[in-house]
Amino acid sequence: EFQQSQLLTSLPKQFFATLVKKVNQKIAAGVDVINLGQGNPDKPTPEYIVKSTQKWVADPRTHKYSLFRGLPAFKQAAANFYHEKYGAVFDPEKEVAILGGSKIGLVELPWALMNPGDTLLLPDPGYPDYLSGAALGKVKFETVPLLAENNFLPDLEAIPADVAKRAKFFYLNYPNNPTGAVATPEFYTALVAWAKQYHVGIISDFAYGALGFDGQAPVSFMETPGAKEVGIEFYTFSKTFNMAGWRIAFAVGNPDIIGALNLIQDHLFVSLFPALQEAAVEALTDPQRDAAIEQIVERYEERRNAFVAAANKIGWHPFVPKGTFYAWMPVPAGYTSESFADLLLDKAGVAVAPGNGFGTHGEGYVRIGLLIEPDRLVEAVDRIAKLNLFK
Ligand code: PLP
Repeated sequence: EFQQSQLLTSLPKQFFATLVKKVNQKIAAGVDVINLGQGNPDKPTPEYIVKSTQKWVADPRTHKYSLFRGLPAFKQAAANFYHEKYGAVFDPEKEVAILGGSKIGLVELPWALMNPGDTLLLPDPGYPDYLSGAALGKVKFETVPLLAENNFLPDLEAIPADVAKRAKFFYLNYPNNPTGAVATPEFYTALVAWAKQYHVGIISDFAYGALGFDGQAPVSFMETPGAKEVGIEFYTFSKTFNMAGWRIAFAVGNPDIIGALNLIQDHLFVSLFPALQEAAVEALTDPQRDAAIEQIVERYEERRNAFVAAANKIGWHPFVPKGTFYAWMPVPAGYTSESFADLLLDKAGVAVAPGNGFGTHGEGYVRIGLLIEPDRLVEAVDRIAKLNLFK
């Protein structure tokens, strides 16, 4: 018999695993489940990226061990992308890290830059995997509420000074999973000043950085003057290019933070498949790039519009998402986020993610993934309408 380590057993339970199990049980029982619970892009990767990958996979030069820290061409392409899109300048060798998905960087960061007992600030509600990083790094975390009345931005003034003084890093994620909220340049300017005042590192998770609606490209934290002095930003190919299964991302920003991420990765990984990195260069530099991204954004916006209109019609009023591919929906009186999610699955065959899985302040909401065609989204609302829960 082999026991799991204390570290492993200290890790938080993966809440999506429970959801997937419930959904699969329903499907096995023959229910036509409309699954709005998860965040997995449903459309294929743009063809120009697939074609270039095929070419690189066939090239024997990509079949060997490669450089630990990523191909110089990829780091340069990442730096150029940030310069072109956000006017931010990064040294490709010192200020860019290549990652096998941004989750890896988010999880290894406390391990690489914090000591046991240090304090990490996390948004509530927030992406559950931040908790895995805190547990692996044996750090304490404190949560900062994201409230509807502040457009789901943290109220920096309301963070107690002693908490701010203790904190070493603060994770933020806009466009936001799960609320669909976006940040403003004013907020980021205030955040840089706050970070300097309290010596807190800012970790911006820009997973949905390309997914802004109503013609508004999301603001990058790295556009803010002084951002590089206080933090980094993670950028993933998963959502921007429908490449969630490919596992490729990068981080840019403060050279001390990037250096620590690179160093811990030297110990954990050999390299990312060079063909994948070469394809990533083409994803970022091909003239078809912006049209491909635009098509992806338009599809989510169309779905958002269809879902929001249908939900409003039955009196179920969402916080209209300004980005991402989620809608953050209030739970009707008399239910918790979990009992409401269970009801929708049992009585309407609609799976949604209960908000409490994202933190205490997620209670009272469910998250809808707009990862299905508009007609099915409207059908989901029609099924929910039959439960007569809304006025
Ligand atoms: N950060 C947020 C907020 C996410 O929602 C996700 C994926 O759902 C990730 C990070 C992970 O992205 P990646 O596929 O790059 O690991």
